[in-house]
Amino acid sequence: MRSTRGWAADGSGVLRRTLLERRDLRPDDIAVRIDYCGVCHSDLHALREHGGESTPLLVPGHEFTGVVTEVGREAERFAVGDAVAVGNIVDACLRCDMCEAGQENFCREFPTLTYGGADRRDGTVTLGAFAREYVLREDFAHRLPEGLDPAAAAPLLCAGITVWEPLRALGVGPGTRVAVVGLGGLGHLAVKLAVALGARTTVVSRSADKAADVRRLGADELLVSGDSGTMGAARGRFDVVLDTVAIAHDLGPYLDLLALDGTLAQLGHLGTVSIETTDLLIGRKRLTSAGSGGMPQTAQLLEFCAEHDVVADIEILPSSRVEESLERLARGDVRYRFVLDLSDLDVATP
Ligand SMILES: [Zn+2]
Ligand SMILES: [Zn+2]
Repeated sequence: MRSTRGWAADGSGVLRRTLLERRDLRPDDIAVRIDYCGVCHSDLHALREHGGESTPLLVPGHEFTGVVTEVGREAERFAVGDAVAVGNIVDACLRCDMCEAGQENFCREFPTLTYGGADRRDGTVTLGAFAREYVLREDFAHRLPEGLDPAAAAPLLCAGITVWEPLRALGVGPGTRVAVVGLGGLGHLAVKLAVALGARTTVVSRSADKAADVRRLGADELLVSGDSGTMGAARGRFDVVLDTVAIAHDLGPYLDLLALDGTLAQLGHLGTVSIETTDLLIGRKRLTSAGSGGMPQTAQLLEFCAEHDVVADIEILPSSRVEESLERLARGDVRYRFVLDLSDLDVATP
């Protein structure tokens, strides 16, 4: 086994600096020195649900960038020193119909998650990237294109790909009328990507105080969701609505925004929702969802972002301030993604 330092919760829900074990490299593995890792809403949920003395250690973190430090003897895609990026899945069967379609995120055998997953070969629980090193199968790492800032690119690997796949699947391009609901980690990247794809992009937000950000992100317009007059006037105007709001809410007002044959993509993992089917019937509207992404689409996203100069708006904190980042994320106090700098883990604690 190899060891690395990281931030782990032992059942108390509080992250503490801990010495962690990583596996010795298998022939098709690479070891990555983690430089930057984004802080995602899933990390908050995982910590809140984590508890009890007997639960395995939880190390969150599943959107990271870093540098390859070692390669397994059969690993061929990467060399020591390569800049890489890794998202929220680190293995899958690679044989099922979903994997063959390049959608390893939907693997029929369930993909191995970057943390809290079960390793496919030895069954151990995976520990995430709030740590200085990660060891993974090389097929699940991406080359980080030159020119992408490694800190600001980290959130592309979860937040970015989660909005990219539906934008692509729904054929968003020049002239598509897109509304993005919620301007957070996912939402701000959805706006940047939709704009870069050439769409006419509108933001729907609870507060009018984001108007300056909306313009800076390249969107054409801000609709304030609590303003029934504005929302009513916007009925039927959009081909695609990407709803990134992650708390329970009525989808009806967003279905109302869709034009004939328009699609509402709900990306907030709401679980069971109830809708009035007439809201779909009138205008033949569609309701869909998405989450994470497959390897080919993620590679394509990174290339697209390098070409179009798209990265996340981030606030970098040393990893020792991880608790502060989680607490501020919980109250929405970030524009628009925290990224942890893991280099402070090299320094021995006083
Ligand atoms: Zn995430
Ligand atoms: Zn599969």
